Amino acid sequence: MFDYIIIGAGSAGCVLANRLSEDPAVKVLLLEAGPRDWHPFIHMPAGVAKLVNQKGVNWDYNTAAEPNLNQRALWWPRGKVLGGSSSINAMCYIRGVSGDYEDWAAQGATGWHWDNVLPYFKKSEGNVRGTDAFHGSDGPLSVSDLRYTNPLSQAFIDASLQIGLAHNRDFNGAVQDGVGFYQVTQREGARCSAALAYLDPARQRPNLTVHTGAVVSRVTFDGLRASGVTYAMRGQAFHQPAAREVIVSGGAINSPQLLMLSGIGPADDLRRHGIPVIADRADVGGNLQDHLDICTLFHSTERVTYDRISDIKTAFDYYLRGRRGPGTSNVAEAGGFARSQLAPDDRADIQFHFVPAMLDDHGRNRLPGDGYTLHACFLRPRSRGRLSLVSNRAGDKPRIEANYLGDAEGFDLKMMVECAKLSREILAQKAFDRYRGAPIFPARNDLDDAGLAEFVRAKAESVYHPVGTCRMGSDADAVVDPQLRVNGVEGLRVIDASVMPCLIGGNTNAPTIMIAERAADLIKAA
Ligand SMILES: Cc1cc2nc3c(=O)[nH]c(=O)nc-3n(C[C@H](O)[C@H](O)[C@H](O)COP(=O)(O)OP(=O)(O)OC[C@H]3O[C@@H](n4cnc5c(N)ncnc54)[C@H](O)[C@@H]3O)c2cc1C
Repeated sequence: MFDYIIIGAGSAGCVLANRLSEDPAVKVLLLEAGPRDWHPFIHMPAGVAKLVNQKGVNWDYNTAAEPNLNQRALWWPRGKVLGGSSSINAMCYIRGVSGDYEDWAAQGATGWHWDNVLPYFKKSEGNVRGTDAFHGSDGPLSVSDLRYTNPLSQAFIDASLQIGLAHNRDFNGAVQDGVGFYQVTQREGARCSAALAYLDPARQRPNLTVHTGAVVSRVTFDGLRASGVTYAMRGQAFHQPAAREVIVSGGAINSPQLLMLSGIGPADDLRRHGIPVIADRADVGGNLQDHLDICTLFHSTERVTYDRISDIKTAFDYYLRGRRGPGTSNVAEAGGFARSQLAPDDRADIQFHFVPAMLDDHGRNRLPGDGYTLHACFLRPRSRGRLSLVSNRAGDKPRIEANYLGDAEGFDLKMMVECAKLSREILAQKAFDRYRGAPIFPARNDLDDAGLAEFVRAKAESVYHPVGTCRMGSDADAVVDPQLRVNGVEGLRVIDASVMPCLIGGNTNAPTIMIAERAADLIKAA
C-alpha cells in the first residue's frame, strides 16, 4: 500500500516524489506514462531543436481549428517522458514578477502572494551566481549561465539597446524589464530537467517507487473519497489503492482530462460520454490560457546561424569535448521583456526569445539557407479557452479550444500586432546590418497594422505555456482550493501548471516547480 500516488513525473510530479519521500515512513508511488529519459538529445541542450520530431517523448497535441487564426490547428508539444515538459523545453529560467502572484491572490489563491512564493523559488534554485535576496544557490534545480552563445544573439541584444531597451543581466531579480542572455536550467552544460534535479537524487530511496510506461486511465473513488488509480503498463491493467492521497500532476492538458474521465467535471458532458458523475464541476477544463507568439524571420547573409549545424557533428563535439560548444546552447539564448504602449500597469507585457536560426512551424518546416528568428509574445492574454473530452476512452486526445484572440475587446490581437511591430523595429537596427538578408516572415517590411494583424492570424503559434484548466481559487466554482485539494471530493489534489489562476509574465517551468515545492509543504503540514 502506498500513502501517496502521484500521476505524472513532469516538472511538478518529480518535485513531489522527492519531497514527499523525504520522510522514510511515507511510501510514494510515481506513475509516468512516458519512457525513461535516456535519449541523448534530451540531455544535450541543443538537442531541443531535434526533439520536435521525437514522437516517443511527446503527447503531440493539436488544438481544434482556431476561429481567429484562419481556422488553423496549432501544435502543442507536451513532454511524455521522465521530467515531462521540463525534458523537452527550451530551458529558459524565468519566474514572472511579483504582480503576477498578487494577481493570483486577488483571484482567490489565498497564500500564494509573492512573499509566500519567493521562498519556494529560492528553495528550488541552485543558481551558479550564488545566493542573494532573490536567489538560492543550494536547491536541486541548477540554474546556469550559457556556456556558448551565437554572435547573432549578441546582435539582438545590441539592437534592442539601440531602440532604447535596457540591458538586464537578471530577469528574476529586482527588475524584469530589459534584454540579455537567459539563465538556463542546466548543470555543467547539460539540461537540468525536473527528473535530473529531483528524481535522480531520490531514486534509491526504498520508500519511492517509480514506474514508467504506466498510463493512468482513472482515479477510483470510494464514495466521494479518492481511493486509488487504475493504470495500464506493459499491456496489463492494474488497480493501485492509495492510503492517504492521489495527486494528479499530468500537466495542463492531461490533468483536467483525467479528472473528467474519473467523473469530476461538467456533469452534462460526462453523462454524454457515459461517465458516472462523482462531482459536477463545470470549471474543470475551462479557463485555458496560453502565450500566443509571433515569429519574425530574416535571411542571414553570414553563415553563423544554427541552421547548418550538423546534429551528429554537434553531438560528437559536445560529448567528446566535455559539454562545450554549440551543443550547450538552448538555441533561444537571448531575449527579454518590454513594455508596450498599451501596457495597463508598470509590468512588461511582451517577452522576446531570439533564435539564431530559421524557426518556421516550431522548426518542423526546414527552410533553405540561413536566417534568424525573433519570437514575441503577449504575456497576459485576456482570451480564455476550454478543454473537453471527445469520449470516455483515456487514449483519445481531448478537444483543445484555445480560443486565441477570442476576447471581446480584441485586445489580444492589438497586442500581437504590437509584438510584431516591436520585433520589426529591433531587427531593423544597425546591429543587424551586417547580417540582414531578405525578410522571410512577414515577406514585406512595410505592413500596416491591418497587414500585421493578417500576418498574426496566418502565422502565430503557441510558445508552449498552457495553464489554468484546473484553476485554484477560493470561490465555489474553483476546481481546487488554495491547498490544491479538488473541490467536491476528498483525498485528491491537482498539483501542476493547470492550477495557475492566470498566466504569469514569463515561462512556466520554474513557477510550476515552485507550486510543487510549496504544495509538498502543504501536504506535509496537513
Ligand atoms: C517545447 C516546450 C518548450 C518550453 N520552453 C520552456 C522554457 O524555456 N522555460 C520554461 O520555463 N518553460 C518552458 N516550457 C513550459 C514548461 O516546460 C511547462 O510549463 C512545465 O514543464 C509544465 O509542468 P507540469 O508539471 O504542469 O507538466 P509536465 O511537465 O508536462 O508533466 C506532466 C507529466 O505527466 C505525465 N502524464 C500525463 N498524463 C498521464 C497519465 N494519464 N498517466 C501517467 N502519466 C501522465 C506526462 O507524460 C508528463 O510527464 C516549455 C514547454 C514546451 C513543451
